[in-house]
Amino acid sequence: MTRHTKIVATLGPASRDPQVLETLIRAGVDVVRLNFSHGKAEDHIALAASVRAIAAKIGRPVGILADLQGPKIRVGKFEDGKITLETGDHFILDANCELGNQERVGLDYKDLPKDVSSGNVLLLDDGRIVLDVERVVGQEIYTVVRHGGDLSNNKGINRQGGGLSAPALTAKDMDDIKTAAHIKADFLAVSFPKSAADMYMARQLMLACGGQALTIAKIERVEAVAALEEILDASDGLMVARGDLAVEVGDAAVPALQKRMIRMAREKNKLAITATQMMESMILAPTPTRAEVSDVANAVLDGTDAVMLSAETAAGNYPVRTVESMARICLAAEKSILITLDREFLDRIFTRIDQSIAMSALFAAYHLNVKAVAALTSSGSTALWMSRLNCGIPIFALTQEPATQTKMTLYREVFPLLMQDLHPDREGMRYNVEQRLIEAGVVKKGDLIVLCYGDQRGVTGGTNTMTIVRVGDQQSQ
Ligand code: PGA
Ligand code: MN
Repeated sequence: MTRHTKIVATLGPASRDPQVLETLIRAGVDVVRLNFSHGKAEDHIALAASVRAIAAKIGRPVGILADLQGPKIRVGKFEDGKITLETGDHFILDANCELGNQERVGLDYKDLPKDVSSGNVLLLDDGRIVLDVERVVGQEIYTVVRHGGDLSNNKGINRQGGGLSAPALTAKDMDDIKTAAHIKADFLAVSFPKSAADMYMARQLMLACGGQALTIAKIERVEAVAALEEILDASDGLMVARGDLAVEVGDAAVPALQKRMIRMAREKNKLAITATQMMESMILAPTPTRAEVSDVANAVLDGTDAVMLSAETAAGNYPVRTVESMARICLAAEKSILITLDREFLDRIFTRIDQSIAMSALFAAYHLNVKAVAALTSSGSTALWMSRLNCGIPIFALTQEPATQTKMTLYREVFPLLMQDLHPDREGMRYNVEQRLIEAGVVKKGDLIVLCYGDQRGVTGGTNTMTIVRVGDQQSQ
């Protein structure tokens, strides 16, 4: 059985060595995440080249997701790299401070003091340290430590309840979008968007740099939760960015939000990635906790397209084992799903011809219990519609466009295959498709498949034909 849920793995010091990277990809990584919060442009360019070379070598497409840092507000650096704050200590966040000490630390977002007032609660380092704001004087925020701990250089700051005004795209993000376009990233993840306008802007900037990536909105702000629908409409998908989200909305609200976000994404023909701390203990341990196993499985049951690994593969001790474990958990969870075509399916209204064909194909495939659905697609949209319904039948998306092939690496249930040679007439084309599927080892002579294609090939949105084929009945041309 093949796994339908995709795995996104963040690259970093623990995984960038080409040999480790190859083992990691072979273990089941579908999409790699380049985290622009770390490293320089040339590091990302080199890593992308390395990923592409490995993908070509092993003959499997691997998607590249460029994740922008966004306006994560951070403390500055300390004289000694870190300090320890005790509960009850007084501590100052000072926009003018150069190098921090036990009394105060600098801020990378100089306007933070304008956004904060007495009574606010600031959460540092993903909520590990909690500060109560006593008063703001000019550029200085005076606080009392509610929960202490070690605080090191450049740790993030969130305000409980959200509402900080930093713009969604920083000057660094704009530079990084150029790099993402240059390396032909398949996905561009935008951090901390607050509105649809933030997502439009990211897309416009990327298009202006010649990029073609699908845009992913990281939902990690209170405002983004409120504007979820319009943000999704302006994006190709979302990430349930549970790290920052939990700090802003409170951790207990996150599980229900995850379910709502994934459901909404699927209903709107958008993608969903579930991220952060999925296998956290495997940064240090060779096996996951029971809670982590359940968390990954539940994301699969929620219908996520992909589950994501962060520090586990970027900086952990067991990157390959983590991917292997995650793949195993996904497979078992998928097996447990009782496949019934969504009742909502029958109520869906289609206005587009290509969408109607995709849906009819799935309906037929489900009832005839065919071996596979095959779709010839130039933009990937036919495969995306099919994959939103979770019918349990693998969808083989055949495309002549390498860029479309790598984008489809994130789509749940979709197996993207490149088809270079396609016979110009219909009979020949069908023969080519059968041969490609036989060659890929997914069907054999006598299997029934449902095939969708457009009369005029290479036309985006041109799918208008569905046919049910018994493999091998077709003659070579
Ligand atoms: P990050 O985003 O890893 O870039 O912070 C994900 C999250 O906040 O969960
Ligand atoms: Mn985040």
